Amino acid sequence: MPSLTFSQPDASFKTIYGPVTSWRYGASLGIDPIGAVSTCSFDCVYCQLGAIEQHVGSRQTFIPTERIRADLAAAAPWAVDVVTLSGSGEPTLALNLREILTLIREMTNRPSVVLTNGTLLRDPAVQDALMSADCVSMKLDAVTPDQLRRVNRSISGLTLEALLDGMRQFRDRFPNRLDIQTMLLTPWTAEEEATYADIVRSLHPNEIQLNTPTRPKPLKHELEARGNHLPEERSYPVRSLKPLSQEALQEMGDRLQQATGIPVRSPYHHLRE
Ligand code: SF4
Repeated sequence: MPSLTFSQPDASFKTIYGPVTSWRYGASLGIDPIGAVSTCSFDCVYCQLGAIEQHVGSRQTFIPTERIRADLAAAAPWAVDVVTLSGSGEPTLALNLREILTLIREMTNRPSVVLTNGTLLRDPAVQDALMSADCVSMKLDAVTPDQLRRVNRSISGLTLEALLDGMRQFRDRFPNRLDIQTMLLTPWTAEEEATYADIVRSLHPNEIQLNTPTRPKPLKHELEARGNHLPEERSYPVRSLKPLSQEALQEMGDRLQQATGIPVRSPYHHLRE
């Protein structure tokens, strides 16, 4: 792995964004622990950040914790449902993840949510840091190595087997709420769906979150894309992605809920009881 050097984000970079309206978690204040250069161990074909600029799996401190503390203080009184770590890439790449989660708890008294692609979950230090989260939402878009390669475009050397092993290891330790988030670009075969149901059962999530690309992909990295902008508010060029139909998503959700007994949520529907 080449060593990377990141310049400190300048004073105009906003580490706090939103609140955004999340169909999963309600009013969400975002913390971006990554910075102005999008950085992720995946480069998903649908990523709302555009093409990932730093495609890496090594951890480092991108933004000093004290900078995040000051920005979070300025966002008081935090009248939101949750505070979410996401932003410009994969938040578990941030070495100060645990410190940031501690800040959220101590300063805001709001539940913290970490949106992760799960690629670092075999790392005990990442597992340890995530123990301070109230909720972790893990991405699971692929049930075959080919899907992982085509949809998530992982850094080299990461196998589906290793990814799932990390998720299971983490689930075995994590006592709080754990959700599975899955982006669907095309309908799955019955065999793929059955494999997915088996994997999900083994992870015992609180909820399955099925999504489809309802937001277009920026042609290049745009910080504004961290929030949820109406089309007329977007000032950057985008490429539309074809979402799965509402009916197809609902039918798949119904089948999965029946097969797993786990509640399924999608942006088209409230959680089924
Ligand atoms: S894991 Fe998230 S941030 Fe990373 S490329 Fe995929 S959608 Fe983008």
